[in-house]
Amino acid sequence: MKREIIDGGEELDVAAPHCFCGKIARLQTSWIEANPLRRFHVCPNSSGRRKKGCGFVVWVDVEFPPREKALVSWLLRRLKELEKDVGRRQSRERNCHKMWALQWRN
Ligand SMILES: [Zn+2]
Repeated sequence: MKREIIDGGEELDVAAPHCFCGKIARLQTSWIEANPLRRFHVCPNSSGRRKKGCGFVVWVDVEFPPREKALVSWLLRRLKELEKDVGRRQSRERNCHKMWALQWRN
């Protein structure tokens, strides 16, 4: 799923703290269901779950109230489903075009 809207926009306006390594912390957005769309600063030496860097993590946004969190999570799940569906339909359409082109050749 693409995240340009949030990754490219308002996040640049937030002043970044320094992590325990002394580097400027990287601003990221959480996409997990427990904290959907919640921004946080993290050590730039970290990447994913395997590499933790110095362990520096600070939330930027307050946590959504439970009802809003559930709603945002549901919307994200629904978006993912719809993106998959569009992908499947595009693939089916391409196959139909190929079949159609083959029939015209024979
Ligand atoms: Zn660090």
